[in-house]
Amino acid sequence: MKAGVFYGKEDLRIEDVPVPEVGPGQMLVKISYVGICGTDVEFYKTGMTPPFAKNPLVLGHENCGVVEKVGEGVTKFKVGDRVLCGPPSHCAEDCPACKVGRTNICINGFPRTAGLGQYDGGYAPYLLIHDVEHTMIVPVPDEVDFKDAVLFDVICVSLHGVRMSNFKFGDDVVVSGTGPIGLSAIQILKAAGANKVIALGTTSAKEPIIKEYGADYFINSKECEDLAGEIKKILGKEVGADVVFECAGNMKSLSNCVYECVKPGGQICVVGTIQEPMSALIPGRFSVTEPNFQFSFTYTEEDVKIYLDMVDSGKLVFPNMVTGVVSLDECVEKVFASDRKGQIKVLIDPSL
Ligand SMILES: [Zn+2]
Ligand SMILES: [Zn+2]
Repeated sequence: MKAGVFYGKEDLRIEDVPVPEVGPGQMLVKISYVGICGTDVEFYKTGMTPPFAKNPLVLGHENCGVVEKVGEGVTKFKVGDRVLCGPPSHCAEDCPACKVGRTNICINGFPRTAGLGQYDGGYAPYLLIHDVEHTMIVPVPDEVDFKDAVLFDVICVSLHGVRMSNFKFGDDVVVSGTGPIGLSAIQILKAAGANKVIALGTTSAKEPIIKEYGADYFINSKECEDLAGEIKKILGKEVGADVVFECAGNMKSLSNCVYECVKPGGQICVVGTIQEPMSALIPGRFSVTEPNFQFSFTYTEEDVKIYLDMVDSGKLVFPNMVTGVVSLDECVEKVFASDRKGQIKVLIDPSL
């Protein structure tokens, strides 16, 4: 079968690899769609992968499809089941984090994630689930389109962040970042009863979709000369927002959140994964306002089930988030090596 194999900086090859053999406790899933994650693109651009990642590695951690084959001892799933394939769930070692249900910060989980760690991912027609028992495999209801289901990895990151935060009904919020994570945070906060939602971004052309997702106001943070003043003006208050969500994943955005957006005693929920040093922040300059920081990392199976339920019942909708579906052969040229202008979320359909 054809697979998208990552070798290093700007080196993603479409190669022929064998269809994986299915051992006991394992399962083979025929991929319907796999999402191209910002993380995959980061790997490609920088050549940097986590220290525990396999090399070369078949990318793809946002997978959904149909069970093709089950190994000996697998009873929870059968051939033909529609599933989404997430990261590791409760680990076999029952670590302290898993013991209290915080499986997203499991001390064993991350290196076992297919497409990011030790196992090959779903940039291929078939994905091997190495350990069905300890992987987040969630049934997808018949009514939920695979194109929506496969967005779980993006949307649940935001959903988990909102659930981890101090956000309450009626709060004024700022969402910094208008990529897939920021857009989904906006939609979730609106559904959760936010009062004013202010989106900060750097691409004014995205304003229509940002508003479609539920933002009441959009500020171009690159062009705005007095961000704090503009936010207070919009809120009609002397202070900033109750809760601020960092969803852009860079230090410029985080320092905007801390210095310009949050009210004294408010909260900054860091949803983005920032790979820069925190040197832009001088604690003495903001500790006087006692902000609270909450970091958020990925999601749990519970978050995924909430997501699927709320999509199924029409309470969450993510229109126009998928801006393209490409084949494996096209993915390098159309996404990885392109300027990605106008793209929000692009999926690979390995059958194309
Ligand atoms: Zn992802
Ligand atoms: Zn664990």
